[in-house]
Amino acid sequence: MSQQNPVFIPGPTNIPEALRKACDMPTMDHRSSAFKDILHPARDVVAQVLRSATAEVFIFPATGTGGWEAAIANTLSAGDAVLAGRNGMFSHRWIDMCTRHGLDVQVLEHRWGQGLDAAAYQAALRADTDYRIKAVLATHNETATGVVSDIAAIRRAMDAVGHPALLMVDGVSSIGSMDFRMQEWGVDIAVTGSQKGFMMPAGLAIVGVSTKAMAHIDGAGLARCFFDFRDMQAGYAANAYPYTPAVGLLNGLKVAGEMLLEEGLETVIARHHYMAEGVRTAVRGWGLQLCAETPDVYSDTVSAILVPEGHDASAIVTRAADVYGTAFGAGLGEVSGKVFRIGHLGMITEGMLLQGIATAEMVMADIGVPVAMGSGVAAAQEYYRAAKSHTFDLAAE
Ligand SMILES: *Cc1c(COP(=O)(O)O)cnc(C)c1O
Repeated sequence: MSQQNPVFIPGPTNIPEALRKACDMPTMDHRSSAFKDILHPARDVVAQVLRSATAEVFIFPATGTGGWEAAIANTLSAGDAVLAGRNGMFSHRWIDMCTRHGLDVQVLEHRWGQGLDAAAYQAALRADTDYRIKAVLATHNETATGVVSDIAAIRRAMDAVGHPALLMVDGVSSIGSMDFRMQEWGVDIAVTGSQKGFMMPAGLAIVGVSTKAMAHIDGAGLARCFFDFRDMQAGYAANAYPYTPAVGLLNGLKVAGEMLLEEGLETVIARHHYMAEGVRTAVRGWGLQLCAETPDVYSDTVSAILVPEGHDASAIVTRAADVYGTAFGAGLGEVSGKVFRIGHLGMITEGMLLQGIATAEMVMADIGVPVAMGSGVAAAQEYYRAAKSHTFDLAAE
Protein backbone atom coordinates (compact mmCIF):
# COMPACT_ATOMS: atom_id res chain seq x y z
CA MET A 1 0.00 0.00 0.00
CA SER A 2 1.23 3.48 -0.77
CA GLN A 3 2.40 5.44 2.22
CA GLN A 4 2.38 8.69 0.28
CA ASN A 5 -1.30 9.59 0.37
CA PRO A 6 -2.65 11.99 2.96
CA VAL A 7 -5.14 10.45 5.37
CA PHE A 8 -8.79 11.48 5.28
CA ILE A 9 -9.64 10.15 8.71
CA PRO A 10 -10.76 12.61 11.38
CA GLY A 11 -7.70 11.91 13.50
CA PRO A 12 -4.93 11.14 13.70
CA THR A 13 -4.53 13.89 11.14
CA ASN A 14 -1.73 14.65 8.68
CA ILE A 15 1.40 15.89 10.43
CA PRO A 16 3.15 19.01 9.09
CA GLU A 17 6.90 18.52 8.54
CA ALA A 18 7.70 21.25 11.06
CA LEU A 19 5.87 19.30 13.76
CA ARG A 20 7.47 15.97 12.86
CA LYS A 21 10.82 17.65 13.25
CA ALA A 22 9.82 19.36 16.49
CA CYS A 23 8.88 15.97 17.99
CA ASP A 24 12.13 14.37 16.87
CA MET A 25 14.58 15.39 19.57
CA PRO A 26 17.62 13.91 21.21
CA THR A 27 16.95 12.68 24.71
CA MET A 28 16.65 15.45 27.24
CA ASP A 29 16.93 14.97 30.98
CA HIS A 30 13.42 15.94 31.98
CA ARG A 31 14.73 16.95 35.40
CA SER A 32 17.13 19.46 33.88
CA SER A 33 16.28 23.15 33.83
CA ALA A 34 15.97 23.06 30.01
CA PHE A 35 12.65 21.18 30.26
CA LYS A 36 10.80 24.15 31.70
CA ASP A 37 11.30 26.01 28.41
CA ILE A 38 9.23 23.31 26.71
CA LEU A 39 6.72 22.57 29.45
CA HIS A 40 5.47 26.03 30.31
CA PRO A 41 5.29 27.44 26.76
CA ALA A 42 3.38 24.29 25.68
CA ARG A 43 0.85 24.78 28.48
CA ASP A 44 0.61 28.47 27.69
CA VAL A 45 -0.15 28.03 23.98
CA VAL A 46 -2.75 25.39 24.82
CA ALA A 47 -4.52 27.82 27.19
CA GLN A 48 -4.59 30.38 24.39
CA VAL A 49 -6.01 27.87 21.91
CA LEU A 50 -8.65 26.95 24.54
CA ARG A 51 -9.34 30.68 24.87
CA SER A 52 -8.98 30.79 28.59
CA ALA A 53 -6.94 33.22 30.65
CA THR A 54 -7.54 31.31 33.88
CA ALA A 55 -7.59 27.56 33.09
CA GLU A 56 -4.99 25.21 34.53
CA VAL A 57 -3.68 23.14 31.63
CA PHE A 58 -2.61 19.54 32.29
CA ILE A 59 -0.93 17.46 29.62
CA PHE A 60 -0.71 13.71 30.26
CA PRO A 61 1.12 11.05 28.25
CA ALA A 62 -2.19 9.49 27.12
CA THR A 63 -4.90 10.18 24.54
CA GLY A 64 -8.23 11.99 24.56
CA THR A 65 -9.81 9.03 26.35
CA GLY A 66 -7.32 9.52 29.18
CA GLY A 67 -8.40 13.16 29.27
CA TRP A 68 -12.04 12.07 29.86
CA GLU A 69 -10.87 9.87 32.71
CA ALA A 70 -8.78 12.65 34.25
CA ALA A 71 -11.78 14.99 34.07
CA ILE A 72 -14.18 12.73 35.94
CA ALA A 73 -11.72 11.03 38.33
CA ASN A 74 -10.44 14.34 39.72
CA THR A 75 -13.80 15.96 40.34
CA LEU A 76 -16.45 13.29 41.08
CA SER A 77 -17.25 10.53 43.57
CA ALA A 78 -18.83 7.11 43.03
CA GLY A 79 -22.59 7.41 42.95
CA ASP A 80 -22.55 11.05 41.78
CA ALA A 81 -25.14 11.77 39.13
CA VAL A 82 -23.94 13.13 35.79
CA LEU A 83 -26.07 14.33 32.90
CA ALA A 84 -24.81 13.43 29.44
CA GLY A 85 -26.17 13.69 25.91
CA ARG A 86 -25.61 10.75 23.55
CA ASN A 87 -25.68 11.40 19.81
CA GLY A 88 -22.88 9.18 18.50
CA MET A 89 -20.08 6.80 19.34
CA PHE A 90 -17.79 9.22 21.18
CA SER A 91 -20.45 10.62 23.49
CA HIS A 92 -21.48 6.97 24.01
CA ARG A 93 -17.96 5.95 25.03
CA TRP A 94 -17.66 8.77 27.56
CA ILE A 95 -20.99 7.69 29.07
CA ASP A 96 -19.74 4.11 29.19
CA MET A 97 -16.60 5.26 31.01
CA CYS A 98 -18.69 7.13 33.58
CA THR A 99 -20.79 4.03 34.20
CA ARG A 100 -17.68 1.90 34.67
CA HIS A 101 -16.45 4.39 37.26
CA GLY A 102 -19.63 3.92 39.26
CA LEU A 103 -21.25 7.22 38.34
CA ASP A 104 -25.01 7.42 37.99
CA VAL A 105 -25.38 8.58 34.38
CA GLN A 106 -28.60 10.24 33.33
CA VAL A 107 -28.50 9.92 29.54
CA LEU A 108 -30.26 12.31 27.17
CA GLU A 109 -30.80 10.22 24.04
CA HIS A 110 -30.58 11.93 20.67
CA ARG A 111 -30.78 10.68 17.10
CA TRP A 112 -27.33 9.95 15.64
CA GLY A 113 -27.14 12.97 13.35
CA GLN A 114 -28.84 15.39 15.72
CA GLY A 115 -27.05 18.12 17.71
CA LEU A 116 -27.23 18.08 21.51
CA ASP A 117 -30.52 19.63 22.59
CA ALA A 118 -29.94 22.42 25.13
CA ALA A 119 -33.65 22.44 25.99
CA ALA A 120 -33.47 18.78 26.99
CA TYR A 121 -30.46 19.55 29.20
CA GLN A 122 -32.37 22.46 30.75
CA ALA A 123 -35.45 20.35 31.49
CA ALA A 124 -33.36 17.67 33.20
CA LEU A 125 -31.46 20.26 35.24
CA ARG A 126 -34.65 22.06 36.24
CA ALA A 127 -36.06 18.76 37.52
CA ASP A 128 -32.90 18.19 39.58
CA THR A 129 -34.01 20.49 42.40
CA ASP A 130 -31.71 18.97 45.04
CA TYR A 131 -28.67 19.24 42.74
CA ARG A 132 -27.82 15.54 42.58
CA ILE A 133 -26.24 16.13 39.17
CA LYS A 134 -22.62 17.06 39.75
CA ALA A 135 -21.45 17.26 36.15
CA VAL A 136 -22.96 18.00 32.77
CA LEU A 137 -21.18 16.26 29.89
CA ALA A 138 -21.32 17.40 26.29
CA THR A 139 -19.40 16.33 23.21
CA HIS A 140 -18.79 19.51 21.24
CA ASN A 141 -18.12 17.76 17.94
CA GLU A 142 -19.43 14.19 17.61
CA THR A 143 -16.81 12.74 15.31
CA ALA A 144 -18.85 9.64 14.50
CA THR A 145 -21.67 11.59 12.86
CA GLY A 146 -20.01 14.88 11.88
CA VAL A 147 -22.26 16.90 14.17
CA VAL A 148 -21.30 20.02 16.11
CA SER A 149 -23.34 21.08 19.14
CA ASP A 150 -23.90 24.49 20.67
CA ILE A 151 -21.96 24.49 23.95
CA ALA A 152 -22.82 28.12 24.71
CA ALA A 153 -26.51 27.11 24.60
CA ILE A 154 -25.89 24.31 27.11
CA ARG A 155 -24.14 26.80 29.41
CA ARG A 156 -27.13 29.14 29.06
CA ALA A 157 -29.44 26.23 29.90
CA MET A 158 -27.46 25.57 33.09
CA ASP A 159 -27.44 29.25 34.04
CA ALA A 160 -31.16 29.65 33.28
CA VAL A 161 -32.00 27.25 36.10
CA GLY A 162 -29.04 28.29 38.28
CA HIS A 163 -27.60 24.77 38.32
CA PRO A 164 -24.15 24.51 39.98
CA ALA A 165 -22.90 21.36 38.18
CA LEU A 166 -19.56 21.39 36.39
CA LEU A 167 -19.69 21.63 32.58
CA MET A 168 -17.31 19.11 31.01
CA VAL A 169 -16.79 19.26 27.27
CA ASP A 170 -15.18 16.80 24.91
CA GLY A 171 -13.50 19.05 22.37
CA VAL A 172 -11.22 16.36 21.00
CA SER A 173 -12.19 16.94 17.36
CA SER A 174 -13.00 20.65 17.59
CA ILE A 175 -10.31 22.36 19.68
CA GLY A 176 -7.71 23.95 17.42
CA SER A 177 -9.96 23.71 14.35
CA MET A 178 -13.45 24.99 15.19
CA ASP A 179 -14.67 27.86 17.36
CA PHE A 180 -14.13 26.86 20.99
CA ARG A 181 -14.28 29.35 23.86
CA MET A 182 -13.57 27.74 27.19
CA GLN A 183 -13.86 30.87 29.29
CA GLU A 184 -16.70 32.63 27.49
CA TRP A 185 -18.82 29.46 27.45
CA GLY A 186 -18.12 28.70 31.10
CA VAL A 187 -16.58 25.32 30.33
CA ASP A 188 -15.15 23.82 33.53
CA ILE A 189 -13.17 21.01 31.95
CA ALA A 190 -12.17 20.90 28.29
CA VAL A 191 -10.62 17.72 26.90
CA THR A 192 -8.62 17.15 23.75
CA GLY A 193 -5.74 15.09 22.38
CA SER A 194 -2.63 15.83 20.37
CA GLN A 195 -3.60 14.02 17.15
CA LYS A 196 -6.57 16.04 15.86
CA GLY A 197 -6.58 19.84 15.62
CA PHE A 198 -3.03 20.05 16.94
CA MET A 199 -1.84 17.96 13.93
CA MET A 200 0.52 15.89 16.08
CA PRO A 201 1.05 12.19 16.59
CA ALA A 202 -1.23 10.60 19.19
CA GLY A 203 0.18 10.44 22.70
CA LEU A 204 -0.95 13.47 24.69
CA ALA A 205 -4.17 13.99 26.63
CA ILE A 206 -4.75 17.73 26.98
CA VAL A 207 -7.07 18.97 29.71
CA GLY A 208 -8.06 22.54 30.60
CA VAL A 209 -9.52 22.93 34.10
CA SER A 210 -11.39 25.95 35.47
CA THR A 211 -10.78 27.38 38.94
CA LYS A 212 -14.23 26.10 39.93
CA ALA A 213 -13.38 22.55 38.86
CA MET A 214 -10.01 22.71 40.62
CA ALA A 215 -11.87 23.42 43.87
CA HIS A 216 -13.65 20.03 43.56
CA ILE A 217 -10.49 17.92 43.62
CA ASP A 218 -10.01 17.36 47.34
CA GLY A 219 -13.63 16.35 47.83
CA ALA A 220 -13.67 13.99 44.84
CA GLY A 221 -13.69 10.34 45.89
CA LEU A 222 -12.98 8.51 42.65
CA ALA A 223 -9.65 6.71 42.67
CA ARG A 224 -6.87 8.23 40.62
CA CYS A 225 -3.12 8.16 40.69
CA PHE A 226 -1.57 8.56 37.24
CA PHE A 227 -4.14 11.24 36.40
CA ASP A 228 -4.17 13.08 39.74
CA PHE A 229 -4.24 16.81 39.00
CA ARG A 230 -2.64 17.53 42.41
CA ASP A 231 0.48 15.52 41.63
CA MET A 232 0.70 17.15 38.23
CA GLN A 233 0.24 20.62 39.71
CA ALA A 234 3.02 19.98 42.23
CA GLY A 235 5.20 18.67 39.41
CA TYR A 236 4.61 21.74 37.23
CA ALA A 237 5.43 24.04 40.16
CA ALA A 238 8.85 22.38 40.19
CA ASN A 239 9.15 22.55 36.36
CA ALA A 240 8.69 18.78 36.16
CA TYR A 241 6.29 15.84 35.97
CA PRO A 242 5.43 13.27 38.63
CA TYR A 243 6.80 10.74 36.11
CA THR A 244 8.60 10.78 32.77
CA PRO A 245 7.03 13.28 30.38
CA ALA A 246 6.82 12.75 26.62
CA VAL A 247 9.34 15.53 26.01
CA GLY A 248 9.41 15.31 22.21
CA LEU A 249 5.61 15.39 21.96
CA LEU A 250 5.47 18.34 24.35
CA ASN A 251 7.98 20.18 22.19
CA GLY A 252 5.86 19.42 19.14
CA LEU A 253 2.74 20.63 20.94
CA LYS A 254 4.44 23.90 21.78
CA VAL A 255 5.30 24.43 18.10
CA ALA A 256 1.81 23.32 17.00
CA GLY A 257 0.19 25.85 19.31
CA GLU A 258 2.52 28.58 18.07
CA MET A 259 1.60 27.70 14.46
CA LEU A 260 -2.12 27.97 15.18
CA LEU A 261 -1.75 31.23 17.09
CA GLU A 262 0.50 32.72 14.44
CA GLU A 263 -2.07 31.93 11.75
CA GLY A 264 -4.72 33.36 14.10
CA LEU A 265 -7.55 31.31 15.58
CA GLU A 266 -10.18 33.19 13.55
CA THR A 267 -8.29 32.35 10.35
CA VAL A 268 -7.88 28.71 11.43
CA ILE A 269 -11.63 28.47 12.05
CA ALA A 270 -12.46 30.12 8.71
CA ARG A 271 -10.02 27.84 6.89
CA HIS A 272 -11.68 24.74 8.34
CA HIS A 273 -15.11 26.04 7.33
CA TYR A 274 -13.90 26.66 3.80
CA MET A 275 -12.30 23.21 3.45
CA ALA A 276 -15.44 21.58 4.88
CA GLU A 277 -17.79 23.48 2.56
CA GLY A 278 -15.93 22.12 -0.44
CA VAL A 279 -16.41 18.56 0.79
CA ARG A 280 -20.09 19.19 1.51
CA THR A 281 -20.50 20.64 -1.98
CA ALA A 282 -18.95 17.47 -3.39
CA VAL A 283 -21.39 15.34 -1.40
CA ARG A 284 -24.28 17.32 -2.91
CA GLY A 285 -22.66 16.86 -6.33
CA TRP A 286 -22.81 13.10 -5.76
CA GLY A 287 -26.49 13.37 -4.87
CA LEU A 288 -25.77 11.96 -1.41
CA GLN A 289 -26.74 13.17 2.06
CA LEU A 290 -24.82 13.86 5.24
CA CYS A 291 -25.58 12.05 8.47
CA ALA A 292 -25.79 15.49 10.15
CA GLU A 293 -29.47 16.34 9.92
CA THR A 294 -29.40 20.10 9.42
CA PRO A 295 -26.87 22.70 8.23
CA ASP A 296 -26.61 24.31 11.68
CA VAL A 297 -24.98 21.14 13.02
CA TYR A 298 -22.61 20.47 10.12
CA SER A 299 -19.13 19.84 11.49
CA ASP A 300 -16.25 21.72 9.91
CA THR A 301 -13.79 18.97 10.85
CA VAL A 302 -15.47 15.77 9.62
CA SER A 303 -18.28 14.84 7.24
CA ALA A 304 -20.13 11.55 7.71
CA ILE A 305 -21.69 10.64 4.37
CA LEU A 306 -24.73 8.37 4.15
CA VAL A 307 -24.51 5.77 1.40
CA PRO A 308 -27.72 4.75 -0.38
CA GLU A 309 -29.67 1.78 1.03
CA GLY A 310 -28.43 -1.54 -0.22
CA HIS A 311 -24.78 -0.50 -0.17
CA ASP A 312 -22.26 -1.16 2.56
CA ALA A 313 -20.31 1.93 3.56
CA SER A 314 -17.68 -0.26 5.21
CA ALA A 315 -16.84 -1.68 1.79
CA ILE A 316 -15.93 1.84 0.64
CA VAL A 317 -13.47 2.28 3.49
CA THR A 318 -11.93 -1.18 3.03
CA ARG A 319 -11.59 -0.88 -0.74
CA ALA A 320 -10.16 2.64 -0.55
CA ALA A 321 -7.47 1.35 1.79
CA ASP A 322 -6.73 -1.93 0.03
CA VAL A 323 -6.88 -0.80 -3.60
CA TYR A 324 -6.05 2.91 -3.56
CA GLY A 325 -3.98 3.24 -0.39
CA THR A 326 -6.33 5.89 0.93
CA ALA A 327 -7.77 6.11 4.43
CA PHE A 328 -11.34 7.24 5.03
CA GLY A 329 -13.17 6.92 8.35
CA ALA A 330 -15.54 4.00 8.87
CA GLY A 331 -19.01 4.24 10.36
CA LEU A 332 -19.07 3.50 14.09
CA GLY A 333 -21.76 1.95 16.26
CA GLU A 334 -25.32 2.71 15.13
CA VAL A 335 -24.14 4.14 11.82
CA SER A 336 -21.68 1.33 11.07
CA GLY A 337 -22.06 0.29 7.42
CA LYS A 338 -24.31 3.30 6.80
CA VAL A 339 -21.77 6.10 6.58
CA PHE A 340 -18.19 6.68 5.61
CA ARG A 341 -16.34 9.70 6.87
CA ILE A 342 -14.01 12.25 5.34
CA GLY A 343 -11.92 14.09 7.90
CA HIS A 344 -11.03 17.64 6.85
CA LEU A 345 -9.17 18.95 9.86
CA GLY A 346 -5.64 19.94 10.54
CA MET A 347 -3.10 20.19 7.78
CA ILE A 348 -5.22 19.68 4.68
CA THR A 349 -5.61 21.69 1.48
CA GLU A 350 -8.10 21.96 -1.38
CA GLY A 351 -5.79 19.88 -3.54
CA MET A 352 -5.57 17.12 -0.96
CA LEU A 353 -9.34 17.11 -0.50
CA LEU A 354 -9.93 16.96 -4.27
CA GLN A 355 -7.69 13.88 -4.30
CA GLY A 356 -9.78 12.30 -1.55
CA ILE A 357 -13.06 13.20 -3.25
CA ALA A 358 -11.78 11.76 -6.57
CA THR A 359 -10.68 8.55 -4.86
CA ALA A 360 -14.03 8.21 -3.10
CA GLU A 361 -15.74 8.50 -6.49
CA MET A 362 -13.64 5.68 -7.93
CA VAL A 363 -14.33 3.45 -4.96
CA MET A 364 -18.06 4.13 -5.01
CA ALA A 365 -18.17 3.36 -8.74
CA ASP A 366 -16.22 0.14 -8.10
CA ILE A 367 -18.79 -1.14 -5.62
CA GLY A 368 -21.80 0.01 -7.62
CA VAL A 369 -22.91 3.14 -5.75
CA PRO A 370 -24.47 5.26 -8.51
CA VAL A 371 -22.20 8.30 -8.49
CA ALA A 372 -21.02 9.98 -11.72
CA MET A 373 -17.24 10.18 -12.11
CA GLY A 374 -16.13 13.75 -11.51
CA SER A 375 -19.45 14.97 -10.12
CA GLY A 376 -18.11 15.64 -6.63
CA VAL A 377 -14.70 16.80 -7.82
CA ALA A 378 -16.20 19.35 -10.21
CA ALA A 379 -18.64 20.65 -7.60
CA ALA A 380 -15.85 21.10 -5.06
CA GLN A 381 -13.57 22.72 -7.63
CA GLU A 382 -16.28 25.25 -8.44
CA TYR A 383 -16.84 25.95 -4.77
CA TYR A 384 -13.16 26.47 -4.02
CA ARG A 385 -12.64 28.66 -7.09
CA ALA A 386 -15.66 30.81 -6.33
CA ALA A 387 -14.67 31.16 -2.69
CA LYS A 388 -11.19 32.30 -3.71
CA SER A 389 -12.38 34.54 -6.61
CA HIS A 390 -11.59 37.75 -4.71
CA THR A 391 -7.96 36.62 -4.65
CA PHE A 392 -7.92 36.40 -8.47
CA ASP A 393 -9.43 39.89 -8.76
CA LEU A 394 -6.66 41.29 -6.62
CA ALA A 395 -4.03 39.55 -8.73
CA ALA A 396 -5.51 41.01 -11.92
CA GLU A 397 -5.31 44.62 -10.72
C1 LIG B 1 -10.85 10.98 18.77
C2 LIG B 1 -11.92 11.34 19.74
C3 LIG B 1 -11.92 10.84 21.06
C4 LIG B 1 -10.95 9.81 21.54
O1 LIG B 1 -9.70 10.26 21.62
P1 LIG B 1 -8.47 9.22 21.69
O2 LIG B 1 -7.34 10.17 21.53
O3 LIG B 1 -8.63 8.27 20.57
O4 LIG B 1 -8.51 8.57 23.01
C5 LIG B 1 -12.87 11.31 21.93
N1 LIG B 1 -13.82 12.16 21.54
C6 LIG B 1 -13.89 12.62 20.29
C7 LIG B 1 -14.98 13.57 19.93
C8 LIG B 1 -12.95 12.22 19.35
O5 LIG B 1 -13.00 12.68 18.09
